[in-house]
Amino acid sequence: MVDSQGACTYNDLLDASWRVATALLAGREDLQEERVAFLVTPGFRWVATQWGIWRAGGIAVPLPLNSPRSELEYFIGDTGASTLVFDTLAALVSPIATAGGTRALSYDQLSAGQPAELPDITPDITGQRRAMILYTSGTTSRPKGVVTTHANITAQVMSLVEAWEWSVSDRIVLCLPLHHVHGIINVVCCALWLGATCQMLPRFDANHTWDLIASGNLTLFMAVPTIYAKLIFAWDTASPERRVLLSQSCAKLRLMVSGSAALPVSTLQRWKEISGHTLLERYGMTEIGMALSNPLQGERVPGTVGTPLPSVEVQLVAENGKPVAPGTPGEIEVRGPSVFAEYWGKPDATRDAFRDGWFRTGDTAVVENGVYRILGRTNIDILKTGGHKVSALEIEEALRKHPAVAECAVVGVPDPEWGERVAAAVVLNDGDALDLPSLRTWAKELLATYKLPSRLLLLDALPRTAMGKVIKPAVVALFQSAGGPVA
Ligand code: AMP
Repeated sequence: MVDSQGACTYNDLLDASWRVATALLAGREDLQEERVAFLVTPGFRWVATQWGIWRAGGIAVPLPLNSPRSELEYFIGDTGASTLVFDTLAALVSPIATAGGTRALSYDQLSAGQPAELPDITPDITGQRRAMILYTSGTTSRPKGVVTTHANITAQVMSLVEAWEWSVSDRIVLCLPLHHVHGIINVVCCALWLGATCQMLPRFDANHTWDLIASGNLTLFMAVPTIYAKLIFAWDTASPERRVLLSQSCAKLRLMVSGSAALPVSTLQRWKEISGHTLLERYGMTEIGMALSNPLQGERVPGTVGTPLPSVEVQLVAENGKPVAPGTPGEIEVRGPSVFAEYWGKPDATRDAFRDGWFRTGDTAVVENGVYRILGRTNIDILKTGGHKVSALEIEEALRKHPAVAECAVVGVPDPEWGERVAAAVVLNDGDALDLPSLRTWAKELLATYKLPSRLLLLDALPRTAMGKVIKPAVVALFQSAGGPVA
């Protein structure tokens, strides 16, 4: 592992995590799934903390560094975490720990002691010992803690290692936050699984990331679509000489992956022009790890997410739970060893999330020519307007082709006449203008009439999460408070 402090070997990691585990145990034999929350900057110390918790038999609860105090208190209270580990955020952590009666320990305190005997948790790797809780945001309720076992994480990692042919000589950069499955599983855990090299950045910075790509040392890169958009912007604004250098250096990478949100086809095409790489788009979720992926070798179809990954079973079902006919949209259900164990402390939500042993993802997709295309969240992105079901993602893809549109988000706004109206929130390119009639006239070439937006809202920026996902309920709220003309 390489971070701002330098390079660390796997022996360093074993030693540091051993000390962390011993300090957490404080004389006990096994943490017995005690929850240990941690607010640690991405880097060696983050991994040593995660491994230390695991080696002591605890459940790791990595928390988002950018969360407000109230959210952190909710995560700590919900998991009943006994301990909160921190590195730099002492001023934030101390009052939270005092108010909640949680033990706060700095990483330096944890790693200072001598290592002692640890419990043997190895046999549980194939068993049901719980390993991690990640919070996933709900649209209608408070975030739910997604619990994965060591066996789930092993399956998630092995599936990707096989499909994307990870090897010990791979070198990857982590530029994603470490409270989400993408950075934790796809980047860090996969790299550590087989002894590859992982360079860890405390946060994403476009020019720094480009510098690392330009160093020619990386073989793999994984990010969300908004990161690719920021890298494209940085390339566009670089000097002509630097552009040539950056583009040439991309040839050294063997694979570049995008996921966690729909990859606009325009981003895929632009990235191909800049880097020569056709991004491999994949689909996954906190509850299941990764489920669908375009192939490492073979054709990657823009706008699609490929086929099921090794050990993952996927089916598309109608509202009655029966599999749909090929070519018909249906809800994605997933089954297999990578699917999570439960929502922490929420047996009802866990029960509702499964049907006949299949996890109901809440996403709708369609299989076209043998590959899956994501149509969006069933409750949010599948709009019901005038009796038609339409995919917000499909409309967004069309609107992004308009020369004035930099970014857009399509939502359904409740309407007594139509059920829902197709509403488009748009960020314009600098200096451009757009109104609803002209957008509708232009879009008629690409979309059936019932798919045309009948409301338009121009925004400076779309509301997004730390992972770059558009927060659709916030967009709906903006339409509801804005009023304005309808078509
Ligand atoms: P999270 O649990 O935060 O990773 O969010 C998972 C959700 O992100 C899924 O349920 C999908 O709605 C969305 N998602 C992930 N990957 C893709 C993709 N390639 N295309 C479209 N949506 C995606």
